[in-house]
Amino acid sequence: MGIAKAKLTSYTYGPVPSRRLGLSLGVDIVPAKICTLDCIYCQVGRTTEKSVVRRDFVDIEVVLAELEDKLKVGLNADYITIGGSGEPTLNIRLGDLIDGIRRLTDIRVAILTNGTLLYRADVRAECAKADVVCPTLDAADAAVFEAVHRPAPGITIEKLVSGLEQFRREFQGEIWLEVFLVAGVNTGTEQIEKIKGLIQRTRPDKVHLNTAVRPPAERDVQAVPAETLDAIARQIGGHCEVIGAPPVGNERHEKRAEADVVSVLKRRPCSVEDICTGLAMDRDEVLNHLAHLQSRGAVTSERRGEITYFHIRPEPL
Ligand code: SF4
Repeated sequence: MGIAKAKLTSYTYGPVPSRRLGLSLGVDIVPAKICTLDCIYCQVGRTTEKSVVRRDFVDIEVVLAELEDKLKVGLNADYITIGGSGEPTLNIRLGDLIDGIRRLTDIRVAILTNGTLLYRADVRAECAKADVVCPTLDAADAAVFEAVHRPAPGITIEKLVSGLEQFRREFQGEIWLEVFLVAGVNTGTEQIEKIKGLIQRTRPDKVHLNTAVRPPAERDVQAVPAETLDAIARQIGGHCEVIGAPPVGNERHEKRAEADVVSVLKRRPCSVEDICTGLAMDRDEVLNHLAHLQSRGAVTSERRGEITYFHIRPEPL
């Protein structure tokens, strides 16, 4: 059955500062929010289409033309990062995209993936074209995997781990594994010890510990305190480092960041990209603030041509 190609407002964003990748130019090739998982901590929000079917979602030639336009103006980025609103390995033209990027620039290419489709040989071959692949491993058994990820039918922890093992054997580039920790869900000593065992089996080059620094899909998801993250990093050992500790006074930080978004919008209507650039704020964080402001009726959006602009709703007289 044919599928209409989705029209995303813009396929690239940034460069924006990324905690893991330095200055990162994002490329988004799967519409929000199509994913193989529906993680409780997802910063994009709940998955609206849970799928394992690889499809031709967007016109890759248009994505590459947009990227070429950005590169022509002398763009400075450490990585071109394929990721964004959904699971990028669901795009069946991922390999064509990376080949096209290689023809345009020698900037390194990274993929942010949940790793659930790496059990497939075609997905492994396409991911192997990148310089860095950043998969996720947050659980060591089926119960925790189901609780954290709410996967599509057919996606299991066993498939994820065997895909990661196979990919490690085949891939010459770097694997930076993210372990996303949710307080009280996957932070028990026994679970961490089992995750450590899986890390030893899948042999990533780096392990990054992250937690819910930004507003997650489910409101009751709690960030892990910085000192607990440090203790877990010591327990895992090796190349493990904390990349997502919540700042002290996290709630205060969130309020201040939201106020910054409001003050930018008070000056003029902006696209998501304008706000990211203006505030040096990560795209997911901007999207979350906009979603909260829209749900309170403080911000509205309006399409002009290909771009969606957000503006402050005027105060009633
Ligand atoms: S965090 Fe990543 S893998 Fe999980 S639901 Fe969100 S986009 Fe999908």
